[in-house]
Amino acid sequence: MTSEGAAVRVRIAPSPTGPLHIGTARTALFNYLFARHSGGTFVLRLEDTDVERSTAAFEQDILDGLRWLGLGWDEGPGLAGEPDHGPYGPYRQMERLARYKAISDRLLAADQAYYCYCTAAELDAERKRLEAAHLPPRYSGRCAHLTAAERAAFEAEGRRPAIRFRIQPGIVAFDDLVRGHVEIDASALGGDLAIVRADGTPLYHFCVVVDDAAMKISHVIRGEDHLSNTPKHILLFRALGEAEPLFAHLPLILNPDRTKMSKRKSQTAVDDYINEGFIREGLLNYLALLGWSTGSEEEILGLDEIAARFSLEHVQKGGAVFDRERLEWLNGQWIRRLAPVELIDRLRPFVQAEATAGRIDRMPADAELLPLVPLVQERLPVLGAIGDLVDFLFADRLDVDRALLVPKRWDRPTTLAGLIAARTAIARVGATAFEPEGLEEPLRALAEEHGWKAGDLFMAIRVAVTGRTATPPLFQTLVALGRERVLARLDSAIGLLTDAAGEGGKG
Ligand code: GLU
Repeated sequence: MTSEGAAVRVRIAPSPTGPLHIGTARTALFNYLFARHSGGTFVLRLEDTDVERSTAAFEQDILDGLRWLGLGWDEGPGLAGEPDHGPYGPYRQMERLARYKAISDRLLAADQAYYCYCTAAELDAERKRLEAAHLPPRYSGRCAHLTAAERAAFEAEGRRPAIRFRIQPGIVAFDDLVRGHVEIDASALGGDLAIVRADGTPLYHFCVVVDDAAMKISHVIRGEDHLSNTPKHILLFRALGEAEPLFAHLPLILNPDRTKMSKRKSQTAVDDYINEGFIREGLLNYLALLGWSTGSEEEILGLDEIAARFSLEHVQKGGAVFDRERLEWLNGQWIRRLAPVELIDRLRPFVQAEATAGRIDRMPADAELLPLVPLVQERLPVLGAIGDLVDFLFADRLDVDRALLVPKRWDRPTTLAGLIAARTAIARVGATAFEPEGLEEPLRALAEEHGWKAGDLFMAIRVAVTGRTATPPLFQTLVALGRERVLARLDSAIGLLTDAAGEGGKG
């Protein structure tokens, strides 16, 4: 056990076998928060020994994603050719092979580990036999006590040995900081544990322990899916004569149907959230609440505020359902808190994407976007929703769906009459009075005069000038469009309805 008051050192140890996953981001965040709260050190280590599936591109994606979130690490691998930083590097496991080799040699010499000559095919057949008998997979221990002569015979056959760690019988117990006292019978661990493959590459359970010991990790905070690995790790720490860290297993993140979060049922890549326009403040705030609670009503909190309040005691045991609606809500709250200039900065790539996709005809200047901020800021659950709110402002030609033009409670002739009357009323408002109040008054009067519901008239105008039924408030929208464009778009809509007269359009 870590002695009282020992320095807090935690780590995130992603495997670069896929893009940054929401679950990894959440684990990184909880480690980061724990380190910040206790003045400790947050270490990043890349577990890249699965060489078949690890790629440099995934590694880059993970590091970029963590940095985007603002989860900077105190010690970790150097980026883009830079040297590693921190006293216990290197921080990529494939650069640490000599250390694993030295330690597996030590375990072999002490007979805590042994050479196993079983081939993949033999192990496979063994697994199938157990499966057929409805037994859990378990290594038979066939090579646990080979004589020198038996070993030599296998070698002569050209077999290359893996290395297995002897799992000693008994109960392995530990006090998990989230789950409380845990006891697991070592006999349920699947038999002696492979720690080095026949090709000489070390395996996860071994590397993780060697590195956690070497990097003086005080607390291992990771997903609950690793809970059943922990007894294996504890036995390895003991065999190495190293102090065991404390463990905290975070609740699983669940799909809405309460199964373990999966790519098939949920969006799991952090990139996909970034590309939709979730902002780091919103995503971090949401991830922090995914398994942890403030213990109070507060929920909109920045990273520093969360770090100040964070404790493992308030981490829940039960699974945390990923609630997309709540994420969007929190994200929207954080978008509202951005200063206008900052919001423009963050929106720019999303507006640019509208231009690139040809949904708008040109990229508006910041000076054109700035006045729109009060209209859109409260209406963005994600930055990517900006197109729906403003595209009609920067599109020269508007495609208006004729059916959409006619409000639900109106027919075509009423809509036509309404738009013609509205056009006249708006044309009467001179360029200088073209302000929200200057427009609202005559249009409300118009509705009253004809006995129309103002909402119906306004909807017809909205669709005529924007092509959409949901927009920022109508009068501000008209002002943003400008008098000439409003009149021209009303004319087109009137034309569209007039043409429809002879075609048996609605009404
Ligand atoms: N590389 C492991 C993973 O990504 C690390 C697990 C651990 O934190 O020990 O799941």
